[in-house]
Amino acid sequence: LTFLGIESSCDDTAAAIVRHGDDGTQILASIVSGQTELHAAFGGVVPEIAARAHAEKLDLCVEQALEQAQLGLTDLDGIAVTAGPGLIGGVMSGVMCAKGIAAGTGLPLVGVNHLAGHALTPRLTDGMAFPYLMLLVSGGHCQFLIAHGSEEFTRLGGTIDDAPGEAFDKTAKLLALPQPGGPNVETEAEGGNPKAYAFPRPLLDRPGCDMSFSGLKTALLRTRDEVVAQHGGLPRAIRRDICASFQAAVTDVLVKKSRRALTEYMDLAPSAPGFAVAGGVAANRAIRAGLESVATEFGATFVAPPLRLCTDNAAMIAWAGLERFRLGHRDGMDLVARPRWPLDRKAAPLLGSGK
Ligand code: ATP
Ligand code: FE
Repeated sequence: LTFLGIESSCDDTAAAIVRHGDDGTQILASIVSGQTELHAAFGGVVPEIAARAHAEKLDLCVEQALEQAQLGLTDLDGIAVTAGPGLIGGVMSGVMCAKGIAAGTGLPLVGVNHLAGHALTPRLTDGMAFPYLMLLVSGGHCQFLIAHGSEEFTRLGGTIDDAPGEAFDKTAKLLALPQPGGPNVETEAEGGNPKAYAFPRPLLDRPGCDMSFSGLKTALLRTRDEVVAQHGGLPRAIRRDICASFQAAVTDVLVKKSRRALTEYMDLAPSAPGFAVAGGVAANRAIRAGLESVATEFGATFVAPPLRLCTDNAAMIAWAGLERFRLGHRDGMDLVARPRWPLDRKAAPLLGSGK
């Protein structure tokens, strides 16, 4: 089966083509067109600007994906599109683009949950077997999920406030490091002492897998102001210590909560236990190493997909669509774009207007 995937739920316009057959899975093309510069002046993604940019870029991204894969629309078996959750204008642009292609070609259309795309990525990259545990950790999300099947997920817990990526970005801002914060804070942390400052690790004393990261930025702000008051500025060595201590706090929370999540997951007695991580924060080497060692403690295989497949992309959408299609799902021209679409089967059925 060969699927086209379309993604436009946040600030990346993306199109990709994925093929799955007896000889395995191949990403034949993956185009991602970011909008960072469009939103830079506003200090965040502006929904209206994002929607317009998606509408302008989608056709070109699809064309480029077909060209990269050296395929025509007639070589495809279906079209998968992110139908939520996300910024509604962007999601609608993608859904309309996909419907247009489906109507013009007669190809089947499959609406995909963006989070399911992230959560199924370890199957695209490593063929990971169900059930596996997943930590989705990005600029907008932080949650533990058990993937029981292509459309069956349970949420074990997650952040009750900020996502870790957001905390990295705010930290960078407070310490006058350039955006995106994650990679810059990580580089700065390399020469620092992770024990120099004891930043808070909330909710570790409580049972369950919920996490909180908003207290970190308050603690950081206080520390920075104290340092500035004392030294008349932010000496480089101290900034390194702050970054290292901040990263250590985030890592500690993620590692300890992963241990809880893995304990719950192991109750399912999976025959081939697996723990996967996705999202931009998974790029962080300290965090990755911490999570990998927890997986090892439990005898679980650890998978961290390559960064381009951890952050928003359309290959994961093509793949998730392909999995849904194999389960018999088809959407019609009544497929709706959904701003909210929880993945957890207890919270809401995963099915949109799927038939
Ligand atoms: P989402 O896709 O969940 O809506 P998003 O688009 O912000 O949110 P991603 O593109 O997956 O998320 O990841 C971007 C986030 O990852 C940013 O907050 C960035 O700072 C963070 N990040 C990237 N690299 C690193 C790193 N090396 N260490 C820590 N954080 C990082
Ligand atoms: Fe995402």
